[in-house]
Amino acid sequence: MPKVGIIAGSGFYEFEGVDTVDIRTVKTPFGEPSDAYRVCEYAGTEFVFLSRHGIPHHIPPHKINYRANMWGFREIGVERILSVNAVGGISSVLKPGDMVIPDQIIDMTHGRAATFYEEDEVVHVDFTDPYCPELRQAIFLSGEEARAELKRSGVYICVNGPRLESKAEIGYFSRIGADIVGMTVMPEACLARELELCYAVVAVVTNYAAGIAAKRLTTAEVVNVMKASTGRMRKLLADTLRRLPAKRTCGCSAALREARM
Ligand SMILES: [Zn+2]
Repeated sequence: MPKVGIIAGSGFYEFEGVDTVDIRTVKTPFGEPSDAYRVCEYAGTEFVFLSRHGIPHHIPPHKINYRANMWGFREIGVERILSVNAVGGISSVLKPGDMVIPDQIIDMTHGRAATFYEEDEVVHVDFTDPYCPELRQAIFLSGEEARAELKRSGVYICVNGPRLESKAEIGYFSRIGADIVGMTVMPEACLARELELCYAVVAVVTNYAAGIAAKRLTTAEVVNVMKASTGRMRKLLADTLRRLPAKRTCGCSAALREARM
């Protein structure tokens, strides 16, 4: 079983040119994952793919069973997760089509099951740096080789949705340092950490956030920009998979050490 998983959202449901070699359904103590896990092969690399919103797209961000999705990945042996996310651009240097590898998170979600430790045990995982440094480094190197322009840092602010944001909210997010806005990285990232999985995000700016451009936002725009990016994304992800050392040297696999009360 491949040890790297890819979870992807809006406009990126399937990889064209990728062969599915196995399909695994997983039951978890937290309920059903969004879809079956597909073991895929592309250009000599193997990975496990999960569609975050199901196939076809039918689960809104606030209804995704984040715990089941992350648990299922670990259950079938995945150690590292690359997350593909469509985001709105808040920072003035970003435009639709840009790819951002964020280095920080601000969580504005509410009402989502955000921990595996609710009753018997008290666990506080360190979240100073929410993403895996080894995965991020592999993405950077792959981007360089492909001459793909990647933004190597950025603050991802996660909102609850499913509605889009108001102009005042985006103004506020900008003032507190957010560069991109999306609806799905939290609690996914901290759940991955609680399971000692590596997790990093490749975000595609699909639109300007509310009030940044004069236009009204549409979901068609999001899906179209994401579709236009799939070729670049596929290559970036495949190169990243090839580049990852077989054994993890980051601290993610020991995230629970000294985290228990
Ligand atoms: Zn890691």
